[in-house]
This record gives sequence, C-alpha cells and structure tokens, in this order.
Amino acid sequence: MNYVGRFAPTPSGALHFGSLVAAVASYLDARANNGSWLVRIEDLDPPRTVPGSVDAILCCLDTFGLHWDGQLMFQSQRQSAYLEALEKLKKQDRIYPCSCSRAQFQTNPLYLCPCLNSPPSQKDVALKITPPRINVTIDDTIIGPQTQHLADEVGDFVVQRKDQLFSYQLAVVVDDAEQKISHVIRGSDLYQQTPRQAWLQSCLGYHQPVYGHLPIITNNQGQKLSKQNLAAALDLSQAPALLSQALERLGQIAPCSLRQAPVTEQLAWAITQWDIAKVPKRMQDPIAFV
Ligand code: GLU
Repeated sequence: MNYVGRFAPTPSGALHFGSLVAAVASYLDARANNGSWLVRIEDLDPPRTVPGSVDAILCCLDTFGLHWDGQLMFQSQRQSAYLEALEKLKKQDRIYPCSCSRAQFQTNPLYLCPCLNSPPSQKDVALKITPPRINVTIDDTIIGPQTQHLADEVGDFVVQRKDQLFSYQLAVVVDDAEQKISHVIRGSDLYQQTPRQAWLQSCLGYHQPVYGHLPIITNNQGQKLSKQNLAAALDLSQAPALLSQALERLGQIAPCSLRQAPVTEQLAWAITQWDIAKVPKRMQDPIAFV
C-alpha cells in the first residue's frame, strides 16, 4: 500500500503547540513509512478564516522543516465535489431537511427531531443524515479499538448547514478520499467523530484510512490548547526547542545532544527512530512552554 498522510489545519489563526504536535506526528509517521505527506487547508467556513493565517501556517511548517508533497488542497475550492457526494447520499434516502437549531440536537444524540415527520416549510434548512442502528469499531493505532453505536451515541448529524456550507464531517471524508489518504494521524478531539466518518466513507464507497489519535495537549487549567482558548501562537524563533518538546510529548525522546539541534537534524533523527507505539495514549501533564 502507498502510504499517504496529511495535516489538515483550519486557518482560523496561527498554529499553536497542539497543532505542532499533530503536524510533527503525521509527518514522522508518513516519512518513517516512506510515505508522502500532504497539507490540506480546511477553509470550509469563510467567516472563520483569519486573513493571513494560511501564510502564517505554511511559514510555520516551513520553519519547523515540515515540507509537504504536491499541491496544497483548499476546501474552499471543493464545493462541487461535496455537492456530488451529497447527491449520492440523498439517493440513499437517509437525508432530510431540518430547521432545528444546533443547540437543540447537537448535545443530545437521542433528540427527536420534529422535522423528520413534518418537513419544515422555510428555505433555510440544514440537511441532516440518519445513521443506521449499528456499532462501528475503529482500530485506532494509538488508542486501540473503540466502538460507537451510531444511532444511540451520535444520532443524526448535519451534512450541509443552514447557510449552505458543507459540514466538516462530509468534507473531510470527501477530501481524504480524493487525496487517497491512507493514514490519518490527528488530535483525539476528533476521536469521537471517527466512527461516523468511517460510516460516511462506506456510504460513499471510499476506502477507510488507518486512524491514530494523539493525546490532547492541555494548558495549565487542563483545557485543550485551541484557538478558542487563546493558545499562544508558536514562537518561531524557538523552533528547535519547541520541536524537541513536541517529540518528547510524542514519546520520542531525543538524545541531549540533539535537543537544541537545528530542526532538520532533529527530524532526520526522529524519522529513523519513530515508533508510534511510544506515543502516549493520554497526555499526563499540562504543557510547560519553553
Ligand atoms: N481541520 C481540523 C483542525 O484544524 C482537523 C481535521 C482533521 O484532521 O480531520 O482541527
């Protein structure tokens, strides 16, 4: 099998330490397996795209020596592919229009949507999909097997939003298939979303990639580092020290002599030493920044 990995940042701000860990892990897993590593810009939601952040993300990857293969993919340019996938799903009779608010159904998988029995009359409706009453098991290469009952634990979910934007769930499976991604290594904030993505892949006749979910990096308050929590942008002048911290977080402990070495040297070492079995299943301590 041809190994193809990817890093898929949302350009809603600069990269933080949590995103660096995801980028480094997916890069190393690809390179250690003689694979290619692609970058996809997930600018699906134009209002969330922060001007300048795509350039900032790419500059950051470059500074850390994380050079990608081939052309960048931009989700903002993929509308016709998403539409085609949606049409395919519509033919499977699982899609229905819904006017409920996200707050009404997103927190409760067992929410009984009134729109199922009485279709809404207004035009601005979301399109939701009803998964079957099945268990889906994902054999995660880092965390191990997880099983989710789609109907009971996920429930119906949105494939196209009221504002006509396609949902992340649909876009990510369409794009992973288009880019022939064989391995998805990403943060475990997306762990719970993987079984529904695997099911969508089967509905659309796509191949299912291998998944590995990385431990979440938290701040001193135990919150996931994220743009919402105002995680600090990576300080590019500290790239070698930050890379060595990221490797440590991934269980790949470099010899002392390498810890301040240029990023290219650290990466070259890490590619030869990469062992996904050493990645901790769970992050123990909050991160202390250099
Ligand atoms: N775009 C998502 C993020 O920046 C990642 C999606 C994925 O890896 O599937 O968190």
